[in-house]
Amino acid sequence: MAEGINYTALMVPALLLFMGIEYAYARHKKKSSYFKFESSISNLSIGVAERLMDLFFSASFYSIYYAVYKYYHVFDISNSWYWWIILLLATDLVWYWYHRLGHEINILWAAHIVHHQSEEFNYTVAARITIFQAVVRCGFWSILPLLGFPPGMVIPILLVHGGYSFFTHTRLVGKLGFIENILITPSHHRVHHAADEEYLDKNYGDIFIFWDVLFGTFKREEKEPTYGITHPLKSNSFIWQHFHYYAEIWAAVHKSKTWKEKFRAVFGGPEYMNPNIRPLLERKLLYKQPKVKPKNRFKAYLVYQITLTMAALLVMSLFYNSLDIPSIIATTLLILVTLVNCGALLEQRRWIFYLEITRFFIPIGYLCYIYSAPASFVTCLLFTLIIVAIFPLKKWYHSQLFQTAQ
Ligand SMILES: [Zn+2]
Ligand SMILES: [Zn+2]
Repeated sequence: MAEGINYTALMVPALLLFMGIEYAYARHKKKSSYFKFESSISNLSIGVAERLMDLFFSASFYSIYYAVYKYYHVFDISNSWYWWIILLLATDLVWYWYHRLGHEINILWAAHIVHHQSEEFNYTVAARITIFQAVVRCGFWSILPLLGFPPGMVIPILLVHGGYSFFTHTRLVGKLGFIENILITPSHHRVHHAADEEYLDKNYGDIFIFWDVLFGTFKREEKEPTYGITHPLKSNSFIWQHFHYYAEIWAAVHKSKTWKEKFRAVFGGPEYMNPNIRPLLERKLLYKQPKVKPKNRFKAYLVYQITLTMAALLVMSLFYNSLDIPSIIATTLLILVTLVNCGALLEQRRWIFYLEITRFFIPIGYLCYIYSAPASFVTCLLFTLIIVAIFPLKKWYHSQLFQTAQ
């Protein structure tokens, strides 16, 4: 194998392949309605951002496990086969509580809610995770090296654990007989993603179902769930999807009169969140999306953009160890601006044209930087401003990519 290449990056195309297989199978079964264009774009955009951030942070997470183990581990645990089994069970138990508290404490729910916003349920939802959730998870998983499991054992188990949950996000796999009594299956996880009253706060486990049975949160799937959160998010904005609940907590703290109320806004459960806060923030901060008829050209442009960001992410992940800082900064900016751009296009925001122009200057700026040509950058900037001023580019752009009102 070539040195310096980060082969774990290949996980991204592997997961995309499974998403493609699931979509092809759904079409074959005449169930392509299980996929909604806007949701899939949103899910993938959030997943790309998480993978991108993971590139920068995963080494820090791993070094935390090594430091906790080196300085604080309680027991000396060998790598005998039975300790691997105990570690798998311990990881699943830690996951259960990490996940359950992620639903029961507002500040943790603010990170995990993003995973639940999707009103579809397919493999693209598995990608819908943010880096904030990974940070919280790192805190919980540090319990394992603290107990005395060596990081060399913990890290591969965490990867297997994370990989398993991808396959529980599908509507195409029915009930799996006796396996339903042992493992978390797609059926169990469908219940977890449901917004229906009888399914709320159930099936928190990741691999094994018995923690839910033990702690009283198990529920069998009896009818097809309605997916999503109880108050659906009325936006495809990349930024809003990531940060709306933090904004709600902030507003709730601000509105609270006593310290007890402020504490409860941050550390209490989502059931204490004032339901009037979200609509208030939506009126203030969100653009009211017009009812529109999507153009195929618009969809093609979004697919092209998301494919390009995934290709950029893959190349950067593969060669991350040998890239210089300016290349990393330029690629990261290009990916993030494109993701915001995709969300803004779905929202039909009028300022998207200016974001497109800004994005255009990221590769230009990068090239001018590596060739030490600031004068070329200024020339290019002036030339673009003149073109935009003379020609009706903005009007043309809107006519090409904005959807027509119904
Ligand atoms: Zn959850
Ligand atoms: Zn899930």
